[in-house]
Amino acid sequence: MSQHTPSGGTTSGTTPTTAAGTRLDPWLGAYADRTHGMRASEIRALFAVANRPEVVSLAGGMPNLDGLPLDVIADVAQRVVATRGRTALQYGSGQGDETLREQILDVMRLEGIHAHPDDVVVTTGSQQALDLVTRLFVNPGDVIVAEAPSYVGALGVFRAYQADVVHVPLDVDGLVPAALEETLTRLAAEGRRVKLLYTVPNFHNPAGVTLSAERRPQILEICRRHGVLVLEDNPYGLLGFDGDPIPAMRSLDEDGVIYLGSFSKTFAPGYRVGWAVAPHAVREKLVLASESAILCPSNASQLAISAYLSTCDWRGQIKAFREMYRERRDAMMGALAEHLPDATWTVPDGGFYTWVRLPDGLDAKAMLPRAVTARVAYVPGTAFYADGQGSDQMRLSFCYPTPERIREGVRRLAGVVAGESEL
Ligand code: PMP
Repeated sequence: MSQHTPSGGTTSGTTPTTAAGTRLDPWLGAYADRTHGMRASEIRALFAVANRPEVVSLAGGMPNLDGLPLDVIADVAQRVVATRGRTALQYGSGQGDETLREQILDVMRLEGIHAHPDDVVVTTGSQQALDLVTRLFVNPGDVIVAEAPSYVGALGVFRAYQADVVHVPLDVDGLVPAALEETLTRLAAEGRRVKLLYTVPNFHNPAGVTLSAERRPQILEICRRHGVLVLEDNPYGLLGFDGDPIPAMRSLDEDGVIYLGSFSKTFAPGYRVGWAVAPHAVREKLVLASESAILCPSNASQLAISAYLSTCDWRGQIKAFREMYRERRDAMMGALAEHLPDATWTVPDGGFYTWVRLPDGLDAKAMLPRAVTARVAYVPGTAFYADGQGSDQMRLSFCYPTPERIREGVRRLAGVVAGESEL
């Protein structure tokens, strides 16, 4: 039997192959323009090697779940199905379970956010919220302003919607207001349409820095003046190592901010539950967009998290996570000072990551295969820019390996860097 291919030819029932035996994609001519920018992230390609047990992976951002009481959580989930199975296993509300939305308000209050359950849209991780917000606001060619560097998963979404990402520098106090002002003024003069400022204000992925309390109102004022909506992505905000959380940007501005939260880092990513808080009209559109994408978020996940929040000491669990990650941060900072004194790096007050600048303009991407051979992995800096910057930079994460393995990983990395300098 022969088939028509989208390019107009026919095949004889089997997908054509190249001489090397690789399958050709018969639908190559059919893909939508928006797929042209889609590619596997540099992190994805790395995971296969980085997960080998002999490799110390300072690459991934996987939360460390060792501290979770799995027996208690299993019990909670079991009880949900036993007592509310017909709801848990059924379709649910597109906006998300109402009880969970109320509990999310308790979580957000820790960062000064006061909202109504109606303002909250539950999503399949905050990653889906990033997709929905971009889908709502961004036409091909619209500009999204984002920190330099930025979360690789957000850049992937922005690329898929054919946005033009313009980076604005950050320093140890986060996004630099004067640089933002200058960029927005220049873009306006060029007649560009800026739709969003995408920012990770707390314990930035990948830069490890936090937007200072002083800068938050300044950034909001600049965006308000330029008519730019702020997309505040905050999965790490409750994982600070010292002191109380800095009030969220959303706590200072209800109309100009879409806030994204997640249970992935403070509880468990496997349930895939995050949320968005948006101004009223935006929220209604978010629900419609989410319903068209997924009908509704998983009731089983939402009810399990809701029961966890109401029956377990989730604040105590977050405190335990903070202590575990602080110990790992200290191990990484100590090892960097000992083994890589010629590099520079950020000192994170929370979260999972530090951002390292290599000495002598070394190329982190070119160095990666040699690092993997030396049994250590990281993510090269270029992954976190839309415009090819960052070759002498890298993200190191300290969330997953033990302090001992972190020290060993940095020692191996220093050996690779020393070898590069001699090349
Ligand atoms: N935003 C940032 C900054 C992240 O680091 C991550 C996860 N690495 C996400 C969003 C997505 O998280 P999730 O979908 O698991 O909530």
